Amino acid sequence: MSTTVTTDIRDLWLPKAADRCDTTGCGARAYVLALFRGGSELLFCAHDGRKNKAALEKAGATIVDKTDLIEPPKPHQPETD
Ligand SMILES: [Zn+2]
Repeated sequence: MSTTVTTDIRDLWLPKAADRCDTTGCGARAYVLALFRGGSELLFCAHDGRKNKAALEKAGATIVDKTDLIEPPKPHQPETD
């Protein structure tokens, strides 16, 4: 009996704070990875990831969507004495 271990990029990739959207002029924190055959990859923020997802999939890219990791903005708590 043999066990085949398949490593899935979707389980391996975690966006780092230094990962930034590759869209020109954006630069927001990346939460979406598009992986192309041949190994090239593009990073997108949640906004641009959503916007480009269909086109990227059409181009044969594997999309790794980690937008569920985005923390909701913390409510502003005014300091009181
Ligand atoms: Zn972006």
